[in-house]
Amino acid sequence: MSCSVCLNEFKLEPVEKQPYTLPCTHSFHFDCIKESAKECGQSCPNCRQKYKDMASEAKLNMQLAGKIEKNENEQIQIFIKDFDGKSTAMFVNPTDSEKKFHAMVSAMSGISIAELRLTTGTKNINAEGVRMLHELNIHKHSSVTILLRLKGGIHCIL
Ligand SMILES: [Zn+2]
Ligand SMILES: [Zn+2]
Repeated sequence: MSCSVCLNEFKLEPVEKQPYTLPCTHSFHFDCIKESAKECGQSCPNCRQKYKDMASEAKLNMQLAGKIEKNENEQIQIFIKDFDGKSTAMFVNPTDSEKKFHAMVSAMSGISIAELRLTTGTKNINAEGVRMLHELNIHKHSSVTILLRLKGGIHCIL
C-alpha cells in the first residue's frame, strides 16, 4: 500500500511515513497532502473530491499502518533438515535474527545452542549473529540444515 502522491509506502514509523486518510477513503502521507494542496488545490489527489482544508480533514490511519506492518512481519514456512535427512516444517519471521533463530531451532530440536550449527547450504548461520533471516536468503520454503558441532578439538584415531 503506497501513497499515490509520492509512490512511497506507508509505515508505522517514522511519522512522515504514516498514512493519513481523507473522508473520500484515499490515503496519503501527511506532507504529501499538504504538498498537493499547495500545488494542485484542496482536492483529493486520487478522486479530485474537493475539501475546505485537506490537511485538517485527513485522519491518521494507524489501522492501515498496522495492517502494512503485519504484512511485513508475516511468518513464512521453512524446513529444517536434520543430520538424518529428516525435514521438519517451522514458521519463522523473515526479520528474525540469526541468534533468535538458533534459539528457536534449539528449542524445537532439543539440541543445545552450544552444539547446534545451522547452514543454508551457502551461508552459515551464526549463533550470536544479528543478520536477519531474509538477509541470509531464507525465504518461503527455504531449507536450513542442522549440523552438529563436534565437541572438543581432539580427533581420536581408532
Ligand atoms: Zn507520499
Ligand atoms: Zn479521494
